[in-house]
Amino acid sequence: MNLIMLAPPGAGKGTHCTWLTEETGVAHISSGDLLRAEIGTGSALSRRLAEYTGRGDLVPDDLVFALLIPVVVAAARGTGGYLLDGFPRTVSQACRLAEIGIERDLVTDAVVYLRAPDAVLVERLLDRADREGRADDMPDVIRHRLAVFSADTAPVVGYYRDRGVLIEIDADRPVGVIRTDLRQRLADRGVLAPSAA
Ligand code: AMP
Repeated sequence: MNLIMLAPPGAGKGTHCTWLTEETGVAHISSGDLLRAEIGTGSALSRRLAEYTGRGDLVPDDLVFALLIPVVVAAARGTGGYLLDGFPRTVSQACRLAEIGIERDLVTDAVVYLRAPDAVLVERLLDRADREGRADDMPDVIRHRLAVFSADTAPVVGYYRDRGVLIEIDADRPVGVIRTDLRQRLADRGVLAPSAA
Protein backbone atom coordinates (compact mmCIF):
# COMPACT_ATOMS: atom_id res chain seq x y z
CA MET A 1 0.00 0.00 0.00
CA ASN A 2 1.42 3.37 -1.03
CA LEU A 3 -0.61 6.12 0.60
CA ILE A 4 -0.34 9.86 1.14
CA MET A 5 -2.01 11.73 4.01
CA LEU A 6 -2.67 15.30 2.97
CA ALA A 7 -4.07 17.72 5.52
CA PRO A 8 -3.68 21.14 7.08
CA PRO A 9 -1.93 21.27 10.45
CA GLY A 10 -4.21 20.04 13.22
CA ALA A 11 -6.46 17.88 11.02
CA GLY A 12 -5.24 14.60 12.57
CA LYS A 13 -2.66 13.26 10.09
CA GLY A 14 -0.55 11.76 12.87
CA THR A 15 -3.50 10.08 14.62
CA HIS A 16 -4.77 8.34 11.49
CA CYS A 17 -1.29 7.42 10.26
CA THR A 18 -0.68 5.65 13.58
CA TRP A 19 -3.55 3.15 13.25
CA LEU A 20 -3.05 2.76 9.50
CA THR A 21 0.58 1.78 9.95
CA GLU A 22 -0.32 -0.59 12.81
CA GLU A 23 -2.94 -2.33 10.66
CA THR A 24 -0.97 -2.50 7.42
CA GLY A 25 2.64 -2.72 8.56
CA VAL A 26 3.80 -0.15 5.99
CA ALA A 27 6.25 2.50 7.13
CA HIS A 28 4.80 5.76 8.46
CA ILE A 29 7.09 8.53 7.23
CA SER A 30 6.45 11.98 8.64
CA SER A 31 8.44 14.75 6.97
CA GLY A 32 7.86 16.98 10.02
CA ASP A 33 9.26 14.28 12.37
CA LEU A 34 12.28 13.74 10.11
CA LEU A 35 12.93 17.48 10.05
CA ARG A 36 12.53 17.77 13.84
CA ALA A 37 14.95 14.85 14.33
CA GLU A 38 17.52 16.51 12.07
CA ILE A 39 17.02 19.84 13.87
CA GLY A 40 17.64 18.05 17.17
CA THR A 41 21.16 17.07 16.06
CA GLY A 42 22.36 20.68 16.22
CA SER A 43 24.22 20.35 12.88
CA ALA A 44 24.85 23.33 10.57
CA LEU A 45 21.97 22.05 8.40
CA SER A 46 19.73 21.86 11.47
CA ARG A 47 20.08 25.60 12.10
CA ARG A 48 19.02 26.32 8.52
CA LEU A 49 16.03 24.00 8.81
CA ALA A 50 14.94 25.49 12.14
CA GLU A 51 14.73 28.95 10.60
CA TYR A 52 11.99 27.73 8.25
CA THR A 53 10.10 25.47 10.64
CA GLY A 54 10.23 28.05 13.44
CA ARG A 55 8.47 30.57 11.21
CA GLY A 56 6.02 28.00 9.87
CA ASP A 57 7.45 28.36 6.36
CA LEU A 58 8.06 25.42 4.08
CA VAL A 59 11.61 24.08 3.99
CA PRO A 60 13.05 24.39 0.44
CA ASP A 61 12.41 21.39 -1.78
CA ASP A 62 16.07 20.39 -2.25
CA LEU A 63 16.57 20.05 1.52
CA VAL A 64 13.31 18.12 1.97
CA PHE A 65 14.11 15.76 -0.93
CA ALA A 66 17.65 15.09 0.34
CA LEU A 67 16.29 14.09 3.74
CA LEU A 68 13.13 12.29 2.71
CA ILE A 69 13.60 10.43 -0.57
CA PRO A 70 16.21 7.92 0.67
CA VAL A 71 13.96 7.17 3.67
CA VAL A 72 10.89 6.64 1.47
CA VAL A 73 12.72 4.33 -0.93
CA ALA A 74 14.34 2.28 1.85
CA ALA A 75 11.14 2.05 3.89
CA ALA A 76 9.05 1.02 0.91
CA ARG A 77 11.59 -1.69 0.10
CA GLY A 78 11.62 -2.90 3.71
CA THR A 79 7.89 -2.79 4.51
CA GLY A 80 6.18 -3.13 1.12
CA GLY A 81 4.83 0.38 0.95
CA TYR A 82 4.75 3.89 2.34
CA LEU A 83 2.41 6.07 4.30
CA LEU A 84 3.53 9.65 3.78
CA ASP A 85 2.53 12.22 6.38
CA GLY A 86 3.24 15.87 5.55
CA PHE A 87 4.77 15.21 2.13
CA PRO A 88 4.16 16.33 -0.59
CA ARG A 89 3.21 19.87 0.42
CA THR A 90 3.70 21.59 -2.94
CA VAL A 91 2.81 20.65 -6.51
CA SER A 92 6.52 20.47 -7.35
CA GLN A 93 7.04 17.95 -4.52
CA ALA A 94 4.06 15.95 -5.83
CA CYS A 95 5.58 15.90 -9.34
CA ARG A 96 8.95 14.73 -7.99
CA LEU A 97 7.25 11.98 -6.00
CA ALA A 98 5.34 10.88 -9.09
CA GLU A 99 8.64 10.60 -11.02
CA ILE A 100 10.21 8.53 -8.28
CA GLY A 101 7.09 6.40 -8.12
CA ILE A 102 7.39 5.56 -11.81
CA GLU A 103 11.19 5.06 -11.71
CA ARG A 104 11.07 2.75 -8.70
CA ASP A 105 7.68 1.12 -9.04
CA LEU A 106 6.33 2.99 -6.01
CA VAL A 107 3.29 4.67 -7.54
CA THR A 108 0.86 6.19 -5.04
CA ASP A 109 -2.37 4.16 -4.68
CA ALA A 110 -4.48 6.83 -2.97
CA VAL A 111 -4.27 10.24 -1.33
CA VAL A 112 -6.33 10.94 1.78
CA TYR A 113 -7.31 14.56 2.26
CA LEU A 114 -8.49 15.35 5.79
CA ARG A 115 -10.36 18.64 5.81
CA ALA A 116 -11.69 20.74 8.69
CA PRO A 117 -12.60 24.41 9.18
CA ASP A 118 -9.73 26.72 10.22
CA ALA A 119 -11.42 27.54 13.56
CA VAL A 120 -11.40 23.83 14.49
CA LEU A 121 -7.75 23.45 13.41
CA VAL A 122 -6.62 26.48 15.44
CA GLU A 123 -8.41 25.19 18.54
CA ARG A 124 -6.79 21.74 18.21
CA LEU A 125 -3.31 23.19 17.62
CA LEU A 126 -3.56 25.48 20.65
CA ASP A 127 -4.63 22.48 22.70
CA ARG A 128 -1.63 20.50 21.35
CA ALA A 129 0.64 23.44 22.26
CA ASP A 130 -0.51 23.09 25.88
CA ARG A 131 0.14 19.34 25.88
CA GLU A 132 3.29 18.98 23.75
CA GLY A 133 4.84 22.45 23.69
CA ARG A 134 5.83 22.29 19.99
CA ALA A 135 7.74 25.43 19.01
CA ASP A 136 5.59 26.00 15.91
CA ASP A 137 2.25 25.69 17.74
CA MET A 138 2.28 29.37 18.79
CA PRO A 139 -0.78 31.45 17.72
CA ASP A 140 1.05 33.61 15.14
CA VAL A 141 2.92 30.66 13.66
CA ILE A 142 -0.28 28.56 13.55
CA ARG A 143 -2.04 31.25 11.53
CA HIS A 144 0.93 31.44 9.17
CA ARG A 145 1.07 27.65 8.73
CA LEU A 146 -2.63 27.64 7.80
CA ALA A 147 -2.00 30.43 5.26
CA VAL A 148 0.93 28.44 3.81
CA PHE A 149 -1.37 25.41 3.50
CA SER A 150 -3.96 27.46 1.56
CA ALA A 151 -1.34 28.99 -0.72
CA ASP A 152 1.01 26.06 -1.37
CA THR A 153 -0.65 22.80 -0.36
CA ALA A 154 -4.30 23.34 -1.36
CA PRO A 155 -3.21 23.15 -5.05
CA VAL A 156 -1.80 19.67 -4.29
CA VAL A 157 -5.36 18.60 -3.37
CA GLY A 158 -6.49 19.68 -6.85
CA TYR A 159 -3.50 17.94 -8.45
CA TYR A 160 -4.53 14.57 -6.95
CA ARG A 161 -8.27 15.15 -7.46
CA ASP A 162 -7.57 15.65 -11.18
CA ARG A 163 -5.71 12.33 -11.24
CA GLY A 164 -8.64 10.49 -9.64
CA VAL A 165 -6.79 9.27 -6.54
CA LEU A 166 -8.17 11.66 -3.92
CA ILE A 167 -10.23 10.40 -0.97
CA GLU A 168 -11.75 13.41 0.75
CA ILE A 169 -12.66 12.97 4.43
CA ASP A 170 -14.50 15.33 6.79
CA ALA A 171 -12.09 15.51 9.75
CA ASP A 172 -14.41 17.60 11.93
CA ARG A 173 -15.90 14.47 13.51
CA PRO A 174 -14.92 12.14 16.36
CA VAL A 175 -11.74 10.15 15.66
CA GLY A 176 -13.55 6.77 15.74
CA VAL A 177 -16.12 7.90 13.16
CA ILE A 178 -13.40 9.22 10.85
CA ARG A 179 -11.46 5.99 11.26
CA THR A 180 -14.43 3.80 10.27
CA ASP A 181 -15.22 6.03 7.29
CA LEU A 182 -11.60 6.14 6.11
CA ARG A 183 -11.13 2.38 6.46
CA GLN A 184 -14.26 1.77 4.38
CA ARG A 185 -13.25 4.27 1.69
CA LEU A 186 -9.80 2.68 1.40
CA ALA A 187 -11.34 -0.79 1.20
CA ASP A 188 -13.79 0.39 -1.50
CA ARG A 189 -10.77 1.39 -3.58
CA GLY A 190 -8.98 -1.87 -2.93
CA VAL A 191 -6.20 -0.13 -1.00
CA LEU A 192 -7.02 -1.87 2.31
CA ALA A 193 -8.07 -5.51 2.45
CA PRO A 194 -11.86 -5.78 2.93
CA SER A 195 -11.23 -7.95 6.01
CA ALA A 196 -9.53 -4.98 7.68
CA ALA A 197 -12.49 -2.73 6.88
P1 AMP B 1 4.42 19.00 10.32
O1 AMP B 1 4.94 18.25 11.50
O2 AMP B 1 4.03 18.12 9.18
O3 AMP B 1 3.34 19.99 10.70
O4 AMP B 1 5.65 19.89 9.77
C1 AMP B 1 6.28 20.85 10.59
C2 AMP B 1 7.07 21.83 9.73
O5 AMP B 1 8.10 21.13 9.01
C3 AMP B 1 6.27 22.57 8.66
O6 AMP B 1 5.60 23.72 9.17
C4 AMP B 1 7.36 22.94 7.66
O7 AMP B 1 8.13 24.02 8.15
C5 AMP B 1 8.27 21.70 7.71
N1 AMP B 1 7.86 20.67 6.71
C6 AMP B 1 7.30 19.46 6.96
N2 AMP B 1 7.09 18.78 5.82
C7 AMP B 1 7.50 19.59 4.81
C8 AMP B 1 7.52 19.45 3.39
N3 AMP B 1 7.04 18.36 2.77
N4 AMP B 1 8.02 20.49 2.67
C9 AMP B 1 8.50 21.60 3.27
N5 AMP B 1 8.50 21.79 4.60
C10 AMP B 1 8.01 20.80 5.38
